[in-house]
Amino acid sequence: MPREQITLECGDCSRRNYTDTKNRRLHPGRVEFKKYCRFCRKHTPHKETR
Ligand SMILES: [Zn+2]
Repeated sequence: MPREQITLECGDCSRRNYTDTKNRRLHPGRVEFKKYCRFCRKHTPHKETR
């Protein structure tokens, strides 16, 4: 199964807080996760960047 490494960027402050892997077959496009941003000090939507 092809797993792709992705970087997750905070939607509010655009800082890159997380790296993760995803399954490209399950998520062919860009993914978005709600994660805690320690700069915003709250949960924000984090978007995949490359
Ligand atoms: Zn943030």
